[in-house]
Amino acid sequence: MRSKLILFTTLFFSFLTVYSQSDNGEKVYTKLIKVNNKIYMLQGKGGNIGLSFGSDGVFMIDDQFAESIEQIQKDIQTISKKPVQFLVNTHFHGDHTGGNAILAQTGTIIFSQENVRTRLMGMIAEEKKKIPQEILPIVTFSEDLTFHYNGEKIYVFHIHDAHTDGDAMVYFTSSNVLHTGDVFFNGKYPFIDTENGGSLTGCIKGLEKAMMVINEDTKIIPGHGDVGSYKDLQKTVEMLSTVYKRVTMNYINKKSEEEVAKMTDLTKEYDDNGYGGGFISTEAFLRMVYSEVAKERGDIESNAEKNRKAREKVEKMQEQANQNKKKNKE
Ligand SMILES: [Zn+2]
Repeated sequence: MRSKLILFTTLFFSFLTVYSQSDNGEKVYTKLIKVNNKIYMLQGKGGNIGLSFGSDGVFMIDDQFAESIEQIQKDIQTISKKPVQFLVNTHFHGDHTGGNAILAQTGTIIFSQENVRTRLMGMIAEEKKKIPQEILPIVTFSEDLTFHYNGEKIYVFHIHDAHTDGDAMVYFTSSNVLHTGDVFFNGKYPFIDTENGGSLTGCIKGLEKAMMVINEDTKIIPGHGDVGSYKDLQKTVEMLSTVYKRVTMNYINKKSEEEVAKMTDLTKEYDDNGYGGGFISTEAFLRMVYSEVAKERGDIESNAEKNRKAREKVEKMQEQANQNKKKNKE
């Protein structure tokens, strides 16, 4: 199963790469969407970009691909001629960090959770593709970070082991807008990068954490998909928790991955609402959940087995001690 997941992850990213290269030199498609007075979402290829405009300058979240940056910069300049002073990467994936090096050359300072920088350094070290050093975030944090910019507090907080091991969400506290990065795919089954520290339970916990930070009026920029609401986030948490529980029950009842992957009733109400229409098909999602459940239950079972053996050993020792006592008395 692990090898299948690796293959799947590889296919997923090579798809993104091929897709981006095939458009080289052609007009890049982007769409700037107003979320409120000063916050915009920019859609194009790759993850959704978040932008804050104001008297201080431009604050940016994620930057899609290098080849799109010229177009993205033009779009930004239709709203403000001020420079992009700060950029936060929500995680290390290429469809969220591809523009880093070019923005760094224009003086933008890049921030991220520390694992993002570590993963990007790993990619540079592998040297499979020529990746410039300038892609690396200059400032990293472990748990959270607050900017005081464009007249509001911008709270950046780490979500542990969710889409990857370096996810961050960004909350514009006065504007009441949250950028979730890829921990939230609005209305679609999520891609969870388990090869890079992601986990389904981490996603559920992360989204629950986000729901405590925001409120029912918050507007949400997801990693992929359209602007969403608190309710949309809530629906995703319910979907993830429900499917996780159903797959766990089937795992306990000794169903195989192949069997579970074909159980369309496990996801029916979500498939009917279009959840399977994104990057991740229903089958791929069920397989991913199954493999996580199998890993977790495997750990639980092997711990239970270890505990049972330890208990038996102690009981034997006690029995031996009792027998020795008896013998001594005799
Ligand atoms: Zn991603």
